[in-house]
Amino acid sequence: MPRLTALALLLATSALAQSPDVKSYVLQNQPAIFREFHDLVALPNLHGDLPSLSKNAQHLKTLLARRGLNPELWETPNAAPLVFGQKLVPGATRTILFYIHYDGQPVDRSRWHQPDPFRPVLRNGSLENNAKIIPDFQTLKNFPPDWRLYGRAAGDDKGPIIAFLAALDAINGAPASNIKLILDGEEEGGGLGLSAALLTHRAQLQADVMVFLDGPQHPSGQPTIYYGARGGTRLDLTVYTAKTGMHSGNYGNWMPDANVRLAQLLSSMLEPSGKVAVEGFYADVLPLPPDAWKLIDSVPDDSASMQKLYGVGGTDGAARSLQEGLNLPTFSVHRLQGGELGGVIPASASAEIALRLVKENSAKAMQDRIIAHIRKQGYFVTDVDPDVVTLAAHPKIAKVKRSPLPNAAWRTDPTNPQAVFLTEALRSQWGDRLVRLRTLGGSLPAMPFISALRIPVIGVALANYDDNQHTDDENLRLGNLWDGIETLAAILLKK
Ligand SMILES: [Zn+2]
Repeated sequence: MPRLTALALLLATSALAQSPDVKSYVLQNQPAIFREFHDLVALPNLHGDLPSLSKNAQHLKTLLARRGLNPELWETPNAAPLVFGQKLVPGATRTILFYIHYDGQPVDRSRWHQPDPFRPVLRNGSLENNAKIIPDFQTLKNFPPDWRLYGRAAGDDKGPIIAFLAALDAINGAPASNIKLILDGEEEGGGLGLSAALLTHRAQLQADVMVFLDGPQHPSGQPTIYYGARGGTRLDLTVYTAKTGMHSGNYGNWMPDANVRLAQLLSSMLEPSGKVAVEGFYADVLPLPPDAWKLIDSVPDDSASMQKLYGVGGTDGAARSLQEGLNLPTFSVHRLQGGELGGVIPASASAEIALRLVKENSAKAMQDRIIAHIRKQGYFVTDVDPDVVTLAAHPKIAKVKRSPLPNAAWRTDPTNPQAVFLTEALRSQWGDRLVRLRTLGGSLPAMPFISALRIPVIGVALANYDDNQHTDDENLRLGNLWDGIETLAAILLKK
């Protein structure tokens, strides 16, 4: 083809790419988009259920093929397949790699307000507002924004898959950038198989920027972009006071109570305000730089109404605001265990200590700080179950098991050109409504990609903040699906 013709064709395609009216496309095609969404959520996708996840992958492959994304299934040993698709655009100067996951969290059917979390239910609002079930959606023409589809993975993370595919349809399959898409079936279990696949398929995945489509929007309900996410690690702590539990009538006031000892030890780690008292806990992070404060202060948090919504009478005092808190490491006790039936003083008690970490933290150094604190309280620290001789030799003894989880926190500088590109794409659609988060509180498996591909990662959250992800009655507000299509179309069309 002569150069001029190719150029003319290119200009024609790009003119076409700017023209689609995404909003009207969405309005006109709500029934078909909703049906595709419903059918995807109806496929059981419990994390670890490999036969079911395989069916999801096959189904997704069909959906991608329909969009000309030339899908491939990447099998990984003992893990759900990855689904990869791409669309290369002649003359494009940028390649965007999108990541979405299709596996879901476990379900406790008895806690759901529907017989089966995989028989999706459409409601004309939220359960909290006593919304009614819409029994038959097949003949409906319109799906109002406040209606919700209830089912496992509706919000986390199948909604974004459908939004992505519908966005491609809405722009006539003509993005301005090269598009790559990876659909992960292992996210909820920490991304087993991903690292292996990244080694094998690194060249295919190579891109200029990666966009994670996951996570809930900011509670203000506004479109949300995030430039980082926290990682984390864990410590399992057990304190011992004897070889075995002993009768509290016969030995009370003589044998120390392991439950009380553990409570004392844990409370020594915190100031009454909630700030962590472990030496150096905030040393890697504080003071936050001025540009961090600029972003933090721009977020429209409404703590008072969130307190009302969640029944939180008084917030934790570790940080001055939710946003500041999300940019600091956290200390939580996820589980406490101790005591038995039968009137005995417990001889051991355990706590599962969870640390959420930010990019500046090293998991090992943070674990070391906690262990040093335990020693400072007079404890002999071991990493094995103590025998009776060891128990008798130390007035205070604790076992600490370090979790091997490395800190997987990441953050992209918001002034990075790719970050600016994505921010501007979202601003072009949503203007000042866009909420920009420096750090998402939870974790995302971005580190394997960052290490393998060495590209900046940006997150875009599409789901409603009250989507009940990971718990019962998970849902997606349909307005978030419709808006998500516009958000993604804005990214796909941006030059
Ligand atoms: Zn997710």
